[in-house]
Formats: sequence, C-alpha cells, structure tokens
Amino acid sequence: MKPNTQQLQELTVQVRRDILRMVHAVNSGHPGGSLGCTEFFVTLYQHLMNRKEGFDMDGKNEDVFFLSNGHISPVFYSVLARSGYFPVSELATFRLLNSRLQGHPTTHEGLPGIRMASGSLGQGLSVALGAAQAKKLNKDLNLVYALLGDGELQEGQNWEAIMYAAAKNVDNIIATVDLNGQQIDGSTDEVLNMGSVKAKFEAFGWDVLDIKEGNNIDAIIAGMTDAKSRTGKGKPVCVLLHTEMGNGVDFMMHTHAWHGKAPNDEQLANALGQNPETLGDY
Ligand SMILES: [Mg+2]
Repeated sequence: MKPNTQQLQELTVQVRRDILRMVHAVNSGHPGGSLGCTEFFVTLYQHLMNRKEGFDMDGKNEDVFFLSNGHISPVFYSVLARSGYFPVSELATFRLLNSRLQGHPTTHEGLPGIRMASGSLGQGLSVALGAAQAKKLNKDLNLVYALLGDGELQEGQNWEAIMYAAAKNVDNIIATVDLNGQQIDGSTDEVLNMGSVKAKFEAFGWDVLDIKEGNNIDAIIAGMTDAKSRTGKGKPVCVLLHTEMGNGVDFMMHTHAWHGKAPNDEQLANALGQNPETLGDY
C-alpha cells in the first residue's frame, strides 16, 4: 500500500502536541526522546506494521513491537491511542495515580498495546528475542520490532542479547537504535563513548543499516522497507535511526536538557505554536 505521507505528517504534529501537553500537565516525563522518535512511531504503527484489529497479549499472526527505553512513553501512548488501542481522551490521565498510563509502561495496568514493562533499561531486546523465537516455533511469519535508546546500549544485558540473536539466527527481528547521541546526563560520547555502534553490531553478526534522516517520514519508510527485505536471511537486523532529540520544537533540539524535563506554561505555548493542531487535541 502506498503511504499517504501527508496524513502521516499531520499525525506526527498532533502526536508532538500530545507529548508536550501530557508532560506539561503533570510537570513530569520525558519529552526529548519522545519528540525525537515521533516520526518513527507514527510510521511504524500507521504504515509498517502488520497489525490485527484489537489487542491480545500473545500477538500471534501479527507484527509486535517492544519499547525498551520505556521512559519515552508519551510518544508510545499517544501513537497507541491514535491508532485505536484505547481512547485518545485517556491521554489526559498520563502519570496520574491509578492511571493505566504510568510514567513507564507496565503490563499490570492492562493498557492495550503494552506487552512488556520497561523503564529499567537494557531489557527490551531480550524480551523481543524471546517473542521472535516464539513466532518461529509457532510458524508465524510476522516480525518483531524493538526500539532501544543509544545511551541504553551501555547496559550490559544488551550485549548478551545481541550475541545470542546472531548465534541463534533470530532473523525475524528488526531492532532499531534511536541514535540521537544524547542521554540523561549529556552526550553519549561524553558519558561513555561506545565507538562505532555499527561496527559493534556487525562484529556480533548482525545485518546493520542506517537511516540517516531519522526524522524524515519518507526516509524512515525507505529504510525500514529495506530492513524488512533483509529479514529471513539468517541474521538479525539492526537499524541505526539517526534522530534529533526534541525534534519539532526549536528550543528542545541540539541538547540533552529536555531528556526528562517538562516545559513550563510559557515554554508550552511556544512549543505548541510551532506545532499547530491538526487532528484535534485530546
Ligand atoms: Mg539517546
């Protein structure tokens, strides 16, 4: 199906508004990484994934997605709601007591679309690999997608999973790394320089490709379509998605400052002014 990039772009702007308003309302949460991955989430759920109507935990006979860097829950919740998993109005309950939309996603709340608790970093790829192997056992030809942060790669468990995936030929997974070069305390190079992430994944036996314009919907579609074409060939597939943290809000870009900080009233008005309403606020 040919994608309607105009529609995807309009949804992207609306999701940015959701992220900003959710985080502002409770003066808490993570706008930077959420904004940086908005185009990716919109494209993933609205175009790339083979999804069934409704939601069940097993996710048999459909593509499934696992968010490892769970702190970017605002973008995940907004895109899930606007893809029909739960009412858009529920976004107003973000981070409130007893809400299904906790700061870090958990399965305990029973929110449709959430198959794994995340927020403790470094664990998502392991879970995704288990799901990918279950699909193979079930003769289910659909794919498993996972998203990881780049700072998150400093967690050791990732490298066990990366080693395992290639050794066991888990070739029905596409693991995307949000390569924004930032993490909570500064640039990834300053905090713990990892050298070439590409060379490391390749050394561990993965097929790796770059999406250089990770905030461009057409580039994401082209890159992820390429990634899909590389599945089923014996190697796990890694996409290095080059994004800008805080994308779409000028004062949140080119810094790690908005990793986990909410805008004040004035900053919110400024940010929303840069992203005029397209599909209706929640
Ligand atoms: Mg990062």
